[in-house]
Amino acid sequence: MTTARPVQMIALLDGSLVDPDVPLLRADDLGVVRGDGVFDVAFCSHGEVPNLEAHLDRLEASAHILGLPKPDRAGYARAVTALTDAWDWDANPEAIVRMVETRGSELGGEPTCWAMMMPLAESIYRDRHEGVRVLILDRGYEAEETVDLPWLLPGAKSLSYGINMAAQRWALNHGADDALFVTPNGHLLEGPTSTLLLDLDGKLQTPQQDGILASTTLRRLMDAGAPEGITVTFAELHREVLDRVDGAWLISSGRLLAPITSVDGKAIPRSPMHATLARLLKVPAPRN
Ligand code: PLP
Repeated sequence: MTTARPVQMIALLDGSLVDPDVPLLRADDLGVVRGDGVFDVAFCSHGEVPNLEAHLDRLEASAHILGLPKPDRAGYARAVTALTDAWDWDANPEAIVRMVETRGSELGGEPTCWAMMMPLAESIYRDRHEGVRVLILDRGYEAEETVDLPWLLPGAKSLSYGINMAAQRWALNHGADDALFVTPNGHLLEGPTSTLLLDLDGKLQTPQQDGILASTTLRRLMDAGAPEGITVTFAELHREVLDRVDGAWLISSGRLLAPITSVDGKAIPRSPMHATLARLLKVPAPRN
């Protein structure tokens, strides 16, 4: 039996498309052997990458934190245009584009840079419309401690996502769909690939961004909500608030808005604000 291959397209920063089946990296690329590099992932829909500038801003900030050369913004924009021009939007109306900069060869030289477009993972449609069961996992250190430990790369989207992937695997292997990191003292942080948003008495709150990734989806929600008086407040949030939330979501570029249905097996209500947030974030209707 043959299985359909996922569609993937890769472009270099000069705007040329390269065959995804042809190796692109040296075996000693520090992005591969050390996870030493940065990336960012933007949502694409029907030929548009609505939030590209925000992702390039964050890629630049991440590169600065890792002491990498400043990313070639025009080059990434060129690569993304080449991908959106070549993509089959009828076959895959929604996609993500991942932009990567590694430190390059162990022998020195230029960073390795490329952009890659892929359809949304099937699980994302389920997360958006059916919701996610979440397990709380201890990240192992307090949020404020990271401020004085810049080698932990707080706030950078580095390629070292092994721990984040392990946390998601742990959740999947223990009857949930995703994880939610907390500090040892129980302060809520973020998901391994998402930001936490809570409805507390009709007010939207999200954990302070000390040492966690600044979400572009959250920024987009704040910008879209402001004219309607819908605001999101950054707050120090303890895991105990999950016992009294009116709703909770994981938000991120591809998933956009995934309602949390349970935390550690305990049901979380569906917030009356869900439809409004879905409209503000332009979450597409479920597929047929
Ligand atoms: N936190 C982490 C660790 C992430 O990997 C992501 C996703 O990229 C987010 C939060 C959400 O960020 P964004 O909304 O920009 O996708």
